[in-house]
Amino acid sequence: MNRYTGKAWDAHFLPRLSRKQVAELDKTDALVVLPVAAIEQHGPHLPVYTDTLINETMLTYAFEALPEGAPVWLIPALSYGKSTEHLGHPGTITLSATTLMAVVMDIAKSLKVSGFRKLAFYNTHGGNVDLLNMMAREIRIETGLAVYQVQFDRSVDPAVIPNEPTLDIHGGEVETSLVLASREHWVDMDEAPDEISSLPASPNLQFKNKAFAWVMNDLSASGICGNAQLATAALGEHLYERWGKAMAATLMELVRFDMTSLRSKGE
Ligand SMILES: [Zn+2]
Repeated sequence: MNRYTGKAWDAHFLPRLSRKQVAELDKTDALVVLPVAAIEQHGPHLPVYTDTLINETMLTYAFEALPEGAPVWLIPALSYGKSTEHLGHPGTITLSATTLMAVVMDIAKSLKVSGFRKLAFYNTHGGNVDLLNMMAREIRIETGLAVYQVQFDRSVDPAVIPNEPTLDIHGGEVETSLVLASREHWVDMDEAPDEISSLPASPNLQFKNKAFAWVMNDLSASGICGNAQLATAALGEHLYERWGKAMAATLMELVRFDMTSLRSKGE
């Protein structure tokens, strides 16, 4: 399935509506999804557009799996993220943290003024995670919007990730498979590296524990972390199908979730 085809773009892409149509939408439970990604080096074999391409393709699958008429609205991807950890590698185009913070706040304020009440980030770049967590709460405080993060923990589903799941974090088997499934001719498998960082065994020093701040040059000579040589389009297709369906279910849960129901004593 390609970008700009399917329900995501034909039935749920908010900016394809007119001003009048947006005004008339029932916004009581409507959820707006803001994709946030990056343009940054992903090794010698993948396009620098990798995170954005994966993001939009995953959403294309997710929206396909939504029930008919679901009040979930997609807005254009924020392709530029915070990729300062990849600076120095040609092709990386990054926003500074403060710029990205200002941009997501401005988008949220605009949605609020349009009458929306719920916003979800769908982020596909690790370097954005901490910033978006912080901004989600800032937006909640400043605009009153309900703000959610839609992410996937690869480790919850060992069946789908065959090799080194916690070390395959950038341009490796998973991301290369996802790009292959989306745009096979954008990948040069002859150049695909196999480079797994040799982290100490201590549980305190694993990526997922965020124990140390790194830039890409600390971790890898090739610019990737993982084994891209194992990537297949079939794995990518499988992940889009599986995670896309899971995301559709999550999005519907957020549509139904009412934050005002959390307090046990009213008032
Ligand atoms: Zn990536």
